[in-house]
Amino acid sequence: MESTPEQSLPSSRTSISENGTTDRLRVVIAGGSIAGLTLAHCLHHCNIDYVVLEARSEIAPQVGASIVVLPNGARICDQLGVWDDILAQIEPCQNGLTWTYDGKLVIDSNSPRLTGIRYVWRIHERDKH
Ligand SMILES: Cc1cc2nc3c(=O)[nH]c(=O)nc-3n(C[C@H](O)[C@H](O)[C@H](O)COP(=O)(O)OP(=O)(O)OC[C@H]3O[C@@H](n4cnc5c(N)ncnc54)[C@H](O)[C@@H]3O)c2cc1C
Repeated sequence: MESTPEQSLPSSRTSISENGTTDRLRVVIAGGSIAGLTLAHCLHHCNIDYVVLEARSEIAPQVGASIVVLPNGARICDQLGVWDDILAQIEPCQNGLTWTYDGKLVIDSNSPRLTGIRYVWRIHERDKH
């Protein structure tokens, strides 16, 4: 990755030790889920060294039926430059349906669509299967 002029300037990321060597800041990230991986992405783009430690044997294990991306998360993904890639793989939510344990529909709400109209960013869903 090429450094921008800003990245090559001395900053709080580096310090000069007593023997004159330059120490680089290295960040240890505990947890390789959404927060940890997002932080790793940001540090990578700031040219800051990091290591991600994940307790589980797998990153992003196959749990749950889908992932819902709410407007606040979508805005941050856009700021990080990854929203267009995500958008290509997900569908906008129109309605939110809630059933009882025995399959009776109790709520059929258009709140996902209204949220998109009011917050600019729509609610999107990615089926994990
Ligand atoms: C059933 C369910 C469904 C959800 N659905 C959605 C959804 O559709 N959309 C949405 O936006 N949010 C959803 N959420 C909320 C979302 O999962 C959390 O807000 C999000 O996962 C929090 O991310 P995080 O990275 O902070 O923590 P976590 O996802 O909890 O990740 C923490 C990570 O740290 C690891 N870890 C813990 N301790 C250590 C350690 N000592 N050393 C190393 N690694 C460690 C864990 O193994 C884990 O991988 C859902 C939550 C649940 C429970």
